[in-house]
Amino acid sequence: MPRRRRRPRPRRPGSAVATWDVVIVGGGSAGLSAALMLGRSRRSVLVVDGGRPRNAPARHMHGVLGRDHTSPLDLLAAGRAELTRYDVAVESGEVADVAGVEADASGPAGPAFEVVLDSGERHLARRLLVATGLRDELPDIAGLADQWGRGVALCPYCEGWEFRDRRIAVIASSAANAHQAQLLRQLSADVVFCSQGAVLTPAARSGLDARGIVVEDRRVVEVFADDGGRLRGIRLEDGGEWEADAVFVAPKAVPHDDLLRRLRARSMRQGGVDHVLVDEDGRTSVRGLYAAGNVVGSRSSVPWAMSSGSLTGAAINADLVDEDIRNAVDARG
Ligand SMILES: Cc1cc2nc3c(=O)[nH]c(=O)nc-3n(C[C@H](O)[C@H](O)[C@H](O)COP(=O)(O)OP(=O)(O)OC[C@H]3O[C@@H](n4cnc5c(N)ncnc54)[C@H](O)[C@@H]3O)c2cc1C
Repeated sequence: MPRRRRRPRPRRPGSAVATWDVVIVGGGSAGLSAALMLGRSRRSVLVVDGGRPRNAPARHMHGVLGRDHTSPLDLLAAGRAELTRYDVAVESGEVADVAGVEADASGPAGPAFEVVLDSGERHLARRLLVATGLRDELPDIAGLADQWGRGVALCPYCEGWEFRDRRIAVIASSAANAHQAQLLRQLSADVVFCSQGAVLTPAARSGLDARGIVVEDRRVVEVFADDGGRLRGIRLEDGGEWEADAVFVAPKAVPHDDLLRRLRARSMRQGGVDHVLVDEDGRTSVRGLYAAGNVVGSRSSVPWAMSSGSLTGAAINADLVDEDIRNAVDARG
């Protein structure tokens, strides 16, 4: 049966700009989960998505109940299909700009945002949710980026099992990655920890030694593969090599938070990174502006991103209900 889609009404007669209850920027696990909650609350929702989810390089996704070892892109396609039951439109594109706008004097009171797509299309929203994810900035080592999402991995829970009992190298970004090596030791007895100059505490070093994890203090300069593109090992600064079936790294998480910053959402420096702050309902410091998923939290998990989006979607609906009550009372005079 063809889908019945209720497009939002233009805000003013003759205006080409449509007003939605909520515009969601980013249609990954977080953004689509929020859209589901809002759609089920009969909110009109526009999701604008650039189509580059963080885990797109991975063929399979793991640790996601009911979807273990399936394609991450299939999950999002299924999510989009589910949303067609509701008043949710999903549009491909990039949001280029956002601005807070004055509420229209002729319409109901409350915050409002204008969203501009790279196509030039404009939309108004009563609430704005930013769920734009983050970028993994990989260590600058030859050959490493080519293997990202295949032989080079990030999270022992997401990809560790696939390399159980295989030869694993951990390339550290800091001493904290000794813990990542210990998690991988749970899966394989053949783990080498490449410190890359990070200074380990005596306790961390003896913990690695005690569990048979080799500490390599020569710098890794290359990750190399065979002719078929399968990862074969790492090369060291003096030409030495370790054979490896998998390399685990700890990329720097760079949130896609420009839109939040443009709207002057408050941020705080934590662990050397400036993070936009949200409360447990995904509220930023700007009234009506919300954020969910990896843009405001770097946990590497689809279930976490879904939960963050779902809870934030419900919180936005509750916020709109409060506003609807105020507007209804005001209208009665
Ligand atoms: C290689 C790799 C493998 C992983 N494997 C797993 C795994 O097996 N299991 C697991 O649980 N987790 C895994 N993760 C983690 C998982 O990818 C993230 O936790 C999850 O994708 C976060 O969801 P999100 O919705 O916050 O962001 P994303 O999934 O990154 O989605 C954000 C979306 O916003 C869009 N966007 C960004 N800016 C704009 C803009 N201006 N306008 C419009 N759209 C925009 C992007 O194109 C993207 O589609 C993996 C991560 C990586 C890097």
